[in-house]
Amino acid sequence: MLKTVDAFDRIGEENAFAVLARATKLASEGRDIVNLGIGQPDFPTPGHIVEAAIKALKDGHHGYTPATGILPLREAVSKDLNKRFGVEVDPDLVMIMPGGKVTMYASILLFGEPGVDILYPDPGFPIYRSMIEFTGANPIPVPIHEENGFAFSAEETLALITPKTRLLIINSPANPTGGVTPKEEIDKLVKGLEKFPDVAIMSDEIYDQLTFDGLEHQTLLAYPEIRDRLIVLNGWSKTYAMTGWRLGWSVWPKKLYDNVRKLAVNAWSCVNAATQYAGIAALEGPQDAVDHMRREFDKRRKLVTAGLNDLPGVSCATPKGAFYAYPNIKQTGWKAKPLASSLLEDAGVAVIGGPDFGVLGEGYIRLSYANSAENIARALDRMKDFLEKRQ
Ligand code: PLP
Repeated sequence: MLKTVDAFDRIGEENAFAVLARATKLASEGRDIVNLGIGQPDFPTPGHIVEAAIKALKDGHHGYTPATGILPLREAVSKDLNKRFGVEVDPDLVMIMPGGKVTMYASILLFGEPGVDILYPDPGFPIYRSMIEFTGANPIPVPIHEENGFAFSAEETLALITPKTRLLIINSPANPTGGVTPKEEIDKLVKGLEKFPDVAIMSDEIYDQLTFDGLEHQTLLAYPEIRDRLIVLNGWSKTYAMTGWRLGWSVWPKKLYDNVRKLAVNAWSCVNAATQYAGIAALEGPQDAVDHMRREFDKRRKLVTAGLNDLPGVSCATPKGAFYAYPNIKQTGWKAKPLASSLLEDAGVAVIGGPDFGVLGEGYIRLSYANSAENIARALDRMKDFLEKRQ
């Protein structure tokens, strides 16, 4: 009998991938499925980024790069942060990762072990909890409430910190709720963290360019007082429609950087060289495709919110960021997971049940509106029809 380590009895996964597989299978059997399950832009990667990767391959960039990423790319990240937020980030503290997720993995591996607490948002991206459990650390959910516009509360977060807490994970704009935490709340959190100098912070800012209604993203990099214990996760996947390229970046405190570099050397060596050149083109090239995608997501956000509020038993707060709507379905009489599964099997609409995002997810489902307006309208019609008949 093969015996793997116990950690693999605890590792979880992301149900969005299982829903994607099921939706793809149903579609291959001839069913017409509208997929609002997976969180990825439906736009192609902008052409000039693709061209930069092709050029890099033609120019002979076929070998390993430094494990931390090529310097021009790290410099481009640093310049971009300075341009967008006015912050100074040393390119030598920027780490190029094979996707945003790998920063999550690395930071939780750095701090997680039995006996320690790691705080994470609930509902939240499912990999936070999965990885925390994998390391044997205690996952401590920080509740995120609909009444609070799905922003996190500094007070509630700080109240959960104990001497066992090593890492606090925060995420704004947020998956799955579309919540954006206002600057004042982040100010409060940072102020409160002064009392807990041994707690590291991992701020997942992968949706930083997707905020609406004039809201501005507040990066944690703007607070020099926590830089020596702050990890910021970001990447190209969502902003530049590059989910399949596997390219992310993170900023690390100086004293953690070398550990992550060594982890890279042990695990993935470096990110694909041509992809890194594409990353430079994305940051330094024209941003009109990003603006275009943001405007399109904004239109769809309004469409999906209005449509959801028109469904029997459903109410949906207007999401302020990312590309997800997170409607409350408590008055439909359905539990979230059976509803998500019946919507897929019987109505041909893929969505994700709230419980896949945490213990506080019951009563909600997540729809990704990174799909065409036409498909969103079709999905809403089908959902309406389904709920009217099956309530
Ligand atoms: N963080 C959040 C909150 C996400 O929603 C996602 C992807 O869905 C990621 C990180 C991971 O991004 P990537 O595809 O770059 O690994």
